[in-house]
Amino acid sequence: MAGHRMSSLPVAQFCGASAALSAKHGAGRAAAMSSAFHALLAGDAAGDRERGRLARLTPEELAEIQTWKRPPDVIPHPTITLPLHLAKHETEHALSKDGYPCDPKDALTVGHSDLLFVVDVESTGPDVGRYAVIVDFKRSTFTTEDGPESLQLLAYGLSAALESHCTHFQVGIWPLTDGDGMEWGPVYETQSFEAAAIWERIREAASSSPTEYATGPHCRRCYGRPHCQEYLLPVSDPAAALAPLSVPGGLTAANAPEVLALYERAKVVMELVKDNLEAFAEREPIRGADGKIWRKVTCANGPSFNGKAFQAEHPELAQKYTSPGKGTRSMGFRWTK
Ligand code: SF4
Repeated sequence: MAGHRMSSLPVAQFCGASAALSAKHGAGRAAAMSSAFHALLAGDAAGDRERGRLARLTPEELAEIQTWKRPPDVIPHPTITLPLHLAKHETEHALSKDGYPCDPKDALTVGHSDLLFVVDVESTGPDVGRYAVIVDFKRSTFTTEDGPESLQLLAYGLSAALESHCTHFQVGIWPLTDGDGMEWGPVYETQSFEAAAIWERIREAASSSPTEYATGPHCRRCYGRPHCQEYLLPVSDPAAALAPLSVPGGLTAANAPEVLALYERAKVVMELVKDNLEAFAEREPIRGADGKIWRKVTCANGPSFNGKAFQAEHPELAQKYTSPGKGTRSMGFRWTK
């Protein structure tokens, strides 16, 4: 492969270095869990290879993927239902530097979609034609900022459409841990100006220089940021960056973004420090001056109430004691549009 992987494109379109750093320090465990989830979906039909993926997870990771929501039959349009058992799982897609499907070893960019359906539409509703429908699994609706318009998913969709001679393609996201259902992007015609513009974006992102760094809001989505010197540069001189906090009224609208950037970057470094300390403490005790030992402890959780099971067993009682609009809420700060 000459360029960057499709999964790197959403950040690589802004910073070429992100792809190389993410490949080295990337979402290894997340990818392993996602692959293992396909084995769970296959159930008894899973082969030795798929079952092997389950065996490679930690007990905590295995417990987590068992709580993930299984996707239902896929309904990209009210007149089309695609039964899950007809999906192709983890399909490899490869596009050449000219934008054609090709052998992965000759490709500019390569990726694997979670679910792929190819369906011929002959009825009323959507335009008649052959559709490539991609469903990608994301842990949560917050995992991908661009939603179904993510360049990664559009690359899967366009590749699948070209590979299967489809007239149209559409991509959707199935959130594994939250959300109300599938989130769909628009339907694209494969031979259209929109699809040509998507290819241009894919080509540019996949070809971006792996030695050129460009910091920006996209850094928050970069798996390589704990290892990126550009991103962590402000942390190397925290005294200068924190100077505004040392005087009353020193934090202003003008310097708050810079201080917040330092806070976010320092958090990334501290997470790394914590991971290392935890790994160290698993091997040998970390003893404080007072003789206490910093170690992993098991906390007993009290019994929990399974609201969903109660609702299924006693729907009338559940409704009687549910106050509409008074669900629990938590407050927090996050980047929003
Ligand atoms: S953290 Fe930002 S600057 Fe560094 S590699 Fe990632 S995207 Fe590029």
